[in-house]
Amino acid sequence: MALCLKQVFNKDKTFRPRKKFEPGTQRFELYKKAQASLKSGLDLKAVVQLPPGESINDWIAVHVVDFFNRINLIYGTMSEYCTEKSCPIMSGGLKYEYRWQDDSKYKKPTKLSAPQYMCMLMDWIEMLINNEDIFPTRIGVPFPKQFQQVCTKILTRLFRVFVHVYIHHFDSIINMGAEAHVNTCYKHFYYFIREFSLVDHRELEPLVRMPQGWRRGQSE
Ligand SMILES: [Zn+2]
Repeated sequence: MALCLKQVFNKDKTFRPRKKFEPGTQRFELYKKAQASLKSGLDLKAVVQLPPGESINDWIAVHVVDFFNRINLIYGTMSEYCTEKSCPIMSGGLKYEYRWQDDSKYKKPTKLSAPQYMCMLMDWIEMLINNEDIFPTRIGVPFPKQFQQVCTKILTRLFRVFVHVYIHHFDSIINMGAEAHVNTCYKHFYYFIREFSLVDHRELEPLVRMPQGWRRGQSE
């Protein structure tokens, strides 16, 4: 079985280093702005809206990186419960099964265990967000034409982490006392992808009734 980077370098299951925004750059300022409004207790639906005068691609780039860091951390904290034995297939319940595909090793959609899928996924995202041709960080370097398409793919796959974690490991989330934290992250993510129509609504189906708490009383 192929090992992914995390398994090779982090045998003790420590977390991979987070991608950081360089202080002084425009994107760092935008990240700080997004964090500040997030902490201000504003409605998450309002928080995700593009601030006046900012570029949509910068706004998406900042959020993709931030969601990757947070979701990677969430999965990391419960990865001890998600094993080859507990989750031999990457799925969301009985109805949804996810196959892995990339441009290198798995050219055809391939059934993987959930931990294996997550490893491939996190490595793949990390590679993309560190690729200057796709996520340029230098001032004046434009985003490539396919930028939003790549982000859609990243966000669609990150959504599957929530699907798997909510459907298969909800008890672990509760036991760890992480429910509020995971729900907030999910809610923020959900409003963001809805605001910019970044993930196909069919992909959202598995969590239409999840998580139980926060949708109650909401119109959607
Ligand atoms: Zn699992």
